[in-house]
Amino acid sequence: MPAYSYAPQPFVRPPELDGAATGAPVAIVGAGPIGLAMAIDLALQGIRSVVLDDNNVVSVGSRAICWAKRTLEIFDRLGVGERMLEKGVTWKVGRLFHGDEEVYSFDLLPEEGHKYPAFINLQQYYVEQYLLERAREFPELIDVRFLSKVVDHAASAEGVTLTVETPEGPYELAADWLLACDGVKSATRERMGLDFTGQTFEEQFLIADIEMDQSPFGDPGIAERWFWFDPTFHPGKSALLHAQPDNIYRIDLQLDLGADAKLEAREEKVIPRIRAIVGDRPFRLDWLSVYKFRCIKLERFVHGRVVFVGDSAHVVSPFGARGGNGGIQDVDNLGWKLAAVLKGEADQTLIESYHEERSHGSAENILNSARSTNFMTPKTPIEALFRRETLRMAHDQPFARRLINSGRLSLPCSLEGFALQTPGEGLVRPGQPMVDAPVGNGWLLPLLQGAFTLVGFGEIALPDVGVRRLGIGQSDHPYPSHDDRAGYALQRYGTGVAYLVRPDGHAAAVFHGEVPEPALREALARAMGRSCEREMA
Ligand SMILES: Cc1cc2nc3c(=O)[nH]c(=O)nc-3n(C[C@H](O)[C@H](O)[C@H](O)COP(=O)(O)OP(=O)(O)OC[C@H]3O[C@@H](n4cnc5c(N)ncnc54)[C@H](O)[C@@H]3O)c2cc1C
Repeated sequence: MPAYSYAPQPFVRPPELDGAATGAPVAIVGAGPIGLAMAIDLALQGIRSVVLDDNNVVSVGSRAICWAKRTLEIFDRLGVGERMLEKGVTWKVGRLFHGDEEVYSFDLLPEEGHKYPAFINLQQYYVEQYLLERAREFPELIDVRFLSKVVDHAASAEGVTLTVETPEGPYELAADWLLACDGVKSATRERMGLDFTGQTFEEQFLIADIEMDQSPFGDPGIAERWFWFDPTFHPGKSALLHAQPDNIYRIDLQLDLGADAKLEAREEKVIPRIRAIVGDRPFRLDWLSVYKFRCIKLERFVHGRVVFVGDSAHVVSPFGARGGNGGIQDVDNLGWKLAAVLKGEADQTLIESYHEERSHGSAENILNSARSTNFMTPKTPIEALFRRETLRMAHDQPFARRLINSGRLSLPCSLEGFALQTPGEGLVRPGQPMVDAPVGNGWLLPLLQGAFTLVGFGEIALPDVGVRRLGIGQSDHPYPSHDDRAGYALQRYGTGVAYLVRPDGHAAAVFHGEVPEPALREALARAMGRSCEREMA
């Protein structure tokens, strides 16, 4: 069990058990990172939710440790980014070894001028703890109920009725929407008879978190991702090393095909494997697990009033850190849309665009994750030959280094070409997430996210159509403006250009030279899933 000190959450008797039928606009099943983030996102937009979890502690075991820049930017919008950053181990460099020789290294964020780094490593139990504490800051809007297992639900066109089992008996909860954030084994998904499709990998991996005072990276200052193919300490297999807070290090070792998981998880098997890496330096086993991976997803994420978010909708192998990070991008995409529908600002069909955009995002994650897993564990003689030759050539042929795939790490998904975006060209194209830059005394992204924003870079007038306006590097305008502190903003966006930005920080439209009011209204209507004619009617 991890050294992390778990604080069991109490069961609080809900009013429904005493006959009160309170109901909620949104019922969220699962208080994992996705369910909690979802509740916070909705609360920030004034939407009330009840979060139900069958357990009473945050993540058992560290599980997800690598949180990407885009996730941190979303966490920032949710009010927990800085806390995560402060506790997490910041890193951006990855090193690849073949045998004991380093063949390649990469820098995930080689440029300056971003509030958040390429990655932090932070155990999932801290991520959930910080999200839970943030959720508790909205007592009127978020009701987190632990030891509350959802055992059934009945959905209609108007809403959903959930059956919840608790230590003090069962009750029914009525909600307009059910968000299934109940993880990879989603009982909601099983009840609805929905199948995951995709690839299951037979290879197993041993994940061991160890606590040690002396860093296994050697120099205590190093915080990087080290990946080995065929190292002498673990011949013929792959190995991965990451640093976490609290002097904890993650070691991830590929096991033999068909290895006995129970046997491999025994300390007498695990300790020598770790000793082979860290030598005789003292360490303590903090958490370990043997995993098989799948790269699978639901065909549809939206089923009437039931919406699947996070691992309940899609699962990837951890190589690339795309599971939790992908789920947080789901939250970012769904939050503003569901809030708009519940406030009557958008039609229910807007939720359909969540399926379209995030199904695309998860397909991208699955493709990348499956490719990495296939490179690491070749299935055919041709794949094995390709891998062997790539690794051999990588020692002195730069082109081969780029072909090594130990996990293409999580990136923000582009929504280019989807229906809500108005096609256009720009340094950031419609559908792409906006890029951070230092502006005024702070940062660009925190100024943009959370509500539709029209942002102008350099001299371009922004018409008032009731949308928040923001100028960067502008003067003399009747809306807030910030200077381009270090010159990055205009470099990254251009000058005399304006972007309509969605609440999730993705560009919806781009305008050059001027922003014609009708075109802006049309882009806005489109981004809300409405036709312009209807908007004007
Ligand atoms: C070893 C490992 C390493 C990983 N590394 C990374 C990484 O570095 N980066 C990354 O981004 N991702 C990583 N992941 C993936 C990440 O852990 C998941 O994507 C993430 O946990 C998904 O969050 P979730 O909230 O969707 O589901 P979960 O975290 O599974 O949460 C689901 C919640 O629902 C509750 N629940 C389930 N059924 C019910 C029910 N019937 N009623 C009420 N409550 C219910 C559960 O108790 C749980 O609290 C890793 C995963 C593993 C296993």
